[in-house]
Amino acid sequence: MPEYLADVAEIGGELPYRPLDFHNPMATFTSRGCVNRCEFCAVHRIEGDLIEIEDFLVRPIVCDNNLLATSITHFNRVIDRLKTLPFVDFNQGLEAGRFEIYHARRIAEIKHAKVRFSLDSWEDKPEVHRAIDTAREHGLNDIGVYVLVGFNDTPAEAREKLEWIRSLGIRPNVMRFQPIEGEFAMAKNSYVLKGWTKKELEDVTRYYSRLRFLEHIPFEKYHYGPTAVAGSLFGEVA
Ligand code: SF4
Repeated sequence: MPEYLADVAEIGGELPYRPLDFHNPMATFTSRGCVNRCEFCAVHRIEGDLIEIEDFLVRPIVCDNNLLATSITHFNRVIDRLKTLPFVDFNQGLEAGRFEIYHARRIAEIKHAKVRFSLDSWEDKPEVHRAIDTAREHGLNDIGVYVLVGFNDTPAEAREKLEWIRSLGIRPNVMRFQPIEGEFAMAKNSYVLKGWTKKELEDVTRYYSRLRFLEHIPFEKYHYGPTAVAGSLFGEVA
């Protein structure tokens, strides 16, 4: 959005520092972009086609958007270098459909690896299930799953996806859909898909983002709002 930033920043040119260091000094990108064009995703529009970064910074929070779409040479180079670290988090997720036994074996060479997948729609269920099973069979038990909500689902479908991930013993990470174009692009969480109410979307997002604290409370009994009892965590009560 160069025109939006025209008054506050100069676009282009070399920087005397690495912007990523200011965001998170533990983070790295070994590639940018993606080969896919998922309808709900901003990556291919912001970053473009996939490129591999040979001299990437060896850091534990790997933010590649689609590491498994890189060449096998690059993937092996990444694992060989990351093996020197005490832990690695494949933070932006690994594409479940590309996650093969070979990848699981190599990632398992890292001392402590967190792998993450994403369940964007119910159609992804078989491949996400297979990826989770493959990871576990290779000792990769620290698993996260991003779940897209509010893009093309109903509240019931979204909860079904989230509860299925929970039933596998994994706390889901809710990803609320955010358009990057149109009238809702500039105000975070202003978009509400038809079939949802604003409150339904907020409740699902808030509850499933805080399962660490709230998992003893069934969603049906979860209430958030001004009537919450004073002193309860974040105002949420059963
Ligand atoms: S959702 Fe993932 S796989 Fe799809 S385009 Fe975005 S980065 Fe690529």
